[in-house]
Amino acid sequence: MFNSTISFIKEKFDQQAFIPLHEPCFAGNEKEYLLECIDSTFVSSVGKFVDQFEDKVAKFTKAKFAIATVNGTSALHTALLLSGVEKNDEVITQALTFIATCNAISYIGAHPVFVDVDKATLGLSAEKLEEFLSANTQVINGICINKLSKRKIKAVVPMHTFGFPAQMEELLAVCKRYSLPIIEDAAESLGSLYKGKHTGTMGLFGVFSFNGNKTITTGGGGMIVTDDLELAKKAKHLTTTAKIPHKWDFVHNQIGYNYRLPNVNAAIGCAQMEMLPKIIAKKRALAADYKEYFELQKVNFVTEQKESLANYWLNTLILNDVNERNSFLEETNAQGVMTRPIWKLMNHLPMFNKAQTDGLENSKWLEERVVNIPSSVKF
Ligand SMILES: *Cc1c(COP(=O)(O)O)cnc(C)c1O
Repeated sequence: MFNSTISFIKEKFDQQAFIPLHEPCFAGNEKEYLLECIDSTFVSSVGKFVDQFEDKVAKFTKAKFAIATVNGTSALHTALLLSGVEKNDEVITQALTFIATCNAISYIGAHPVFVDVDKATLGLSAEKLEEFLSANTQVINGICINKLSKRKIKAVVPMHTFGFPAQMEELLAVCKRYSLPIIEDAAESLGSLYKGKHTGTMGLFGVFSFNGNKTITTGGGGMIVTDDLELAKKAKHLTTTAKIPHKWDFVHNQIGYNYRLPNVNAAIGCAQMEMLPKIIAKKRALAADYKEYFELQKVNFVTEQKESLANYWLNTLILNDVNERNSFLEETNAQGVMTRPIWKLMNHLPMFNKAQTDGLENSKWLEERVVNIPSSVKF
């Protein structure tokens, strides 16, 4: 049934026997910087590459400050803490996301509340958010209270799914009316812009991941970005064991985290950042080829929306129904073309199956139909 699509993908990837979904691409100075790290003995949490990597990400995204962390989940955890989320509070996010978003909320003892996504962007829907907040909450003394649970809602976390920017302008306008800060889960969207602004730089905080499957990788790693100097200082402090700088004394003034990114990982990150513009250009060229092909095949290939620029981290199809999706997954994987379905909705997992939702009409529809297809780039 999907033989023509399988042939097209195999041709794009030089007839490789197995085509992974997303491979890292090391075509720059990775080896050189790693050797430099080892020769210098600075392989751990001290070293020049960490500062350089932070500078490179800040410059690229035009964020005022960037703080490197050991992975994207720890970056999310820290950003939520510094946004004022506390135990028993609630955080609104998408049910259509990777588990890390909800894990980070849970680490604090806070509870996720799931609002539907937009069908075109696959990210949190501003319209559904407004509907949910107006029907279910009341703002008292600047604090948004959930009328059903009586808990405080403290933050909203939209996620830029597969690199497609969410409707940030509308989301920011809604959140402002309800006194809610936005933390952008931009783990998948390094290189994606919304109305000329980099994803992750429009909310109070943005968070990136450099896991092995992401657009660029540091092995494992993450980054917090913000334009707020005080919050940036707190983020650095909290993620580096809350140590007060001193020549020899060990003074820590709160319970901090060892969320430091090692220098070896940052070294890879510096080399990857140098390649990022070229990687994005290649990813966008592959997406353009896919788009042309799938339009002819009358298959729904997800594209960037007007005034957005997507990094096309993972190319995405929306198939007609769950049966077609299952056959697609069976046939492609059987022939060495790795494809996968979108994540299970978070409220379908045992840890979050009692969470409040708005019905999640679009999320459920997408859960049955969305697949990702091979998206690596090579030089
Ligand atoms: C990858 C990812 C993260 C962070 O993951 P880490 O593996 O901890 O770096 C967070 N949210 C989303 C949506 C992701 O895809």
